Amino acid sequence: MEFDLIELIRTRCAVQRADVRLGIGDDAALLAPPAGHELAVSTDTLVGGVHFPFATSAHDLGWKALAVNLSDLAAMGATPAWSLLALTLPEATREFVAEFIDGYAELAAQHGVALVGGDTTRGPLAIGVTVHGFVAPGRALRRDGAQAGDLVFVTGTLGDAAAGLRCLDRRDTRAQALFNAPPDTRETLVARLNRPTPRVAAGAALRDVASACIDVSDGLLADLGHIAERSGVGIEIDAGALPASSALLTLFEREERLVLQATGGDDYELAFCVPPARAGEVQRDLARIGCGATRIGRVVAGERVRLFDGDGSELVPERSGWDHFA
Ligand code: ADP
Ligand code: MG
Repeated sequence: MEFDLIELIRTRCAVQRADVRLGIGDDAALLAPPAGHELAVSTDTLVGGVHFPFATSAHDLGWKALAVNLSDLAAMGATPAWSLLALTLPEATREFVAEFIDGYAELAAQHGVALVGGDTTRGPLAIGVTVHGFVAPGRALRRDGAQAGDLVFVTGTLGDAAAGLRCLDRRDTRAQALFNAPPDTRETLVARLNRPTPRVAAGAALRDVASACIDVSDGLLADLGHIAERSGVGIEIDAGALPASSALLTLFEREERLVLQATGGDDYELAFCVPPARAGEVQRDLARIGCGATRIGRVVAGERVRLFDGDGSELVPERSGWDHFA
């Protein structure tokens, strides 16, 4: 290799932590977890052409690879600490790796996450990241604690990332209209796709209050389905309550917007359940840290996630739009 790739990575991603006794450079990292805490560990891989368009910039990729992993820790209410990076590259150019690691380091610095090791191999572009965080014993947010009667909330807005992907897709029949949209609006949505914000502080604030929590990566309905299944409950969502950004409202009509919000995915917002008595407190706490949450539904006895229109009819997502059921 014509340059020292690992040295480049090590020097550009420079968060230092006292609990990293030995970082990049040996056969394994040596880490000292805080006494009396549980370690939350998660890993996620992004494959080129599957999880991101090949045209995505290296900087955005570095950010996103870490962001989707920090989002998993946020959904557990864990405080991020360490990460590992497995890079598979068709060819390692200095420009690509430097830009990639700058994007990664920018987000890592925001959360004080040290890069303590990894692996580098040649092959089709893929990025695997593993993250470690801390949480006090028994206090992690899980998917299995929702109870009938709880209220369901989601942070931020939904559907923006999926809309951003639509803005990039030149084969999309609506893409021409999207290309003519105000550049700011398009850029806002594409940025939500490429540079998601992991809701780490929100996850920490929910730790002692939420009965269940998940990050929205596959789409709201699919991910709430995991809470329903693990908790043994049903969930009813009010379509009219789903939060939308002004960019989404500008570019998409209601039906199309609903599909993006309910099934779009890549939002990396937190969806969570809270006993009604604590709902006001949660909203105040989240507003204080600058991450608003919207009430979107409730937990009921049952086993399915159902989406309801304002007139009480159930909406069922179809590839081409929505079927209405009485
Ligand atoms: P080994 O052959 O012992 O696995 P490597 O040559 O793969 O060693 O890696 C050398 C050191 O560099 C190790 O500490 C490893 O964790 C680190 N490393 C390798 N690739 C990366 C990467 N993409 N990001 C961060 N650290 C890396
Ligand atoms: Mg190795």
